[in-house]
Amino acid sequence: MSNVSVCVRFRPLNARESLQASGASCIRQLDNECVMFKDEKDQEETTFTFDRIFYEDSFQADVFDFVALPIVRDAMNAINGTVLTYGQTGAGKTHSMEGPSIQTNDPKLKGILPRVTQIIFDLIERADEAAEFLIKLSMVEIYMEKIRDLLDTKKDNLQVKENKLHGIFVAGVTEKYVQSEKEMLQILQTGLANRAVGQTLMNCESSRSHCVFLLTIQQSDIEDRSIKTGKIYLVDLAGSEKVEKTGAEGKLLCEAKTINKSLSALGNVINALTSDKPCHVPYRDSKLTRILQDSLGGNSRTALLCCCSPSTLHASETLSTLRFGTRAKLI
Ligand code: ADP
Ligand code: MG
Repeated sequence: MSNVSVCVRFRPLNARESLQASGASCIRQLDNECVMFKDEKDQEETTFTFDRIFYEDSFQADVFDFVALPIVRDAMNAINGTVLTYGQTGAGKTHSMEGPSIQTNDPKLKGILPRVTQIIFDLIERADEAAEFLIKLSMVEIYMEKIRDLLDTKKDNLQVKENKLHGIFVAGVTEKYVQSEKEMLQILQTGLANRAVGQTLMNCESSRSHCVFLLTIQQSDIEDRSIKTGKIYLVDLAGSEKVEKTGAEGKLLCEAKTINKSLSALGNVINALTSDKPCHVPYRDSKLTRILQDSLGGNSRTALLCCCSPSTLHASETLSTLRFGTRAKLI
């Protein structure tokens, strides 16, 4: 199996989609790996193939098991990994990554992040007596190519650095040591609340920035004193929708261009990583790909979850998301 997996998730139709387009769908379910996209205008049908497709009735638990669990298991063995949610605003990125809220009481609705939290502390509980674990959490937001610390909002323009000891890192970012699932969920909640406040102050929406969660798992063996470290990046990407060419100007247009640039940089990097031939991987083209550099490709594992609406109302954005996923990895 390749180190990069690309999956697609279709969320259920929402109330507006059910009413306005009489619930018409732009896709037809073929199987777990293939989906048919129907173009209304020219009646053309295209089949897309991915590592896995989750349809409207999929469970959060199944998405986690397929998309994130292998990455968590590897990170416990010092292999870095990244999980990304991609798609237009409203397509289900945050629902998949977090669930309705990070601390939801409904176990069925928990997203990837609370499940990762739970499984890490479960695995630690069951690990060898001789193993000691240190779990660190950082959270940043990338808005207009600026990195803002969500655990200390005074740090609003952090830089990405690289050295022999740490590899690639965000210099000066807050790292919280966490000892339990409960503590971790509380810190995540605080970071997300900071994100919301900052956005209100800057007058921008969460859909316009990338939210990056970093979990570092350090494991030391108290007998032979060896230390191994694995990192997991979980990234809820900015909305991939095209801003209307005519309407957008000023700040909105500038945001759209910046987002577009970083998402295409991400696509180019993943594409270069899955290519058979050795080629230049353009990590330096955006802050996002730069941060993720040592957790994308190489020895590490990457999972891209492309989120889509199945409604004909969003057919063109859904098509563009399916194309992004396909371009990221030609299977
Ligand atoms: P995004 O983060 O991509 O902008 P959200 O995750 O916020 O989108 O989803 C938009 C709305 O759709 C939310 O109200 C969310 O609860 C709902 N939703 C998204 N995905 C699903 C799903 N798989 N099942 C049920 N509701 C979903
Ligand atoms: Mg969201």
